[in-house]
Amino acid sequence: MMQRLAGLLGLVLLALAQPARADWLDRTEAIMGTRVFVEVWADDPAQGNAAIEAVMEEMRRIDALMSHYKPDSELSAINAHAAQEPVQVDPELFDLIKLSTHFSQITDGAFDITYASVGYLYNYPLHVHPSEEQIKAALPSVNWRYLEFDAAHHTIHFARPGMRIDLGGIAKGYAVDRGVAILKAHGIAHAIVTAGGDSRLLGDHRGRPWLVSVAHPDDPHNPDKVVTRIPLADCAVSTSGDYERYFDEDGIRYHHIIDPHTGHSATRVRSATIIGPTATQTDGLSKTAFVLGPEKALEIIERLPDFDAVFVTPEGKLLYSKGLRPPAPRPPGAPPAPATPH
Ligand code: ADP
Ligand code: MG
Repeated sequence: MMQRLAGLLGLVLLALAQPARADWLDRTEAIMGTRVFVEVWADDPAQGNAAIEAVMEEMRRIDALMSHYKPDSELSAINAHAAQEPVQVDPELFDLIKLSTHFSQITDGAFDITYASVGYLYNYPLHVHPSEEQIKAALPSVNWRYLEFDAAHHTIHFARPGMRIDLGGIAKGYAVDRGVAILKAHGIAHAIVTAGGDSRLLGDHRGRPWLVSVAHPDDPHNPDKVVTRIPLADCAVSTSGDYERYFDEDGIRYHHIIDPHTGHSATRVRSATIIGPTATQTDGLSKTAFVLGPEKALEIIERLPDFDAVFVTPEGKLLYSKGLRPPAPRPPGAPPAPATPH
């Protein structure tokens, strides 16, 4: 009897001495005006929670620096003063603004953070949109080429009056990449970090790929209505949609992706999903098809190694880049496909 009791006690002590069990941990917070979601595979909960908290803290830091909603952010200081004089900014913000002009360059100006010179006239929750006269007056200030950089002094100057910038189309992707770097530094090997439409997958889902859903533009919150699911690992994915921030008036949808050339909401697709190595890149590219149309956007995406795309057209058609397309069906009567491709 005593022996059995001792044995039992030994088992209990052994269980107590075991390290905490590895498991998935997740957390959702509202940061950067959007939903931030982090899920990690952690060897123990303390490690996992510390890693998640560090990511959330980083997102709050980036928001405080780069938000155009926060009057005390450095970005707001640029908007307030850069038309009058060069404004010195934090090197990190300087670099992201400079990088934004790279995405303008490779997207024929579809991505342009100076869109905000006209974009600020829209208020989606209040159903406000500018008149044609207001757009006409604001458009001359929209052009990324009017951003003047002094790399030696980290200053930014607006070459035209009335200019504004807004990093809403790239800062979330950047924050997601920073989040993944922090998770790696905490020893995490499997995770997803999401901010709004931008996600990055660290590793796989432990032996399986992550399954990333593309929402139906008419029913974006219905998990049974997704237009496609894509298995992915170790990459970034961004989806932009005309259903995220919008209002409808007289049959017109006013939504948050603006064509920098016209000042109107860009309507050439309903949604665009870009897959690529980093979320900064996929975020910077996910607006392209709205402005340039799916054909031109596919040309750009297919020129870039390691990028893929899925577009939902206004007619509800799905368009895939080459890397995601199934092999073409063999014509009738053709000999069977070789067993090993060469
Ligand atoms: P999310 O914020 O959910 O990731 P998107 O990646 O689609 O959404 O980014 C949309 C945001 O991009 C808009 O809210 C606005 O801040 C910004 N934006 C809108 N039009 C443009 C544009 N033509 N170029 C750059 N940024 C834009
Ligand atoms: Mg985005």
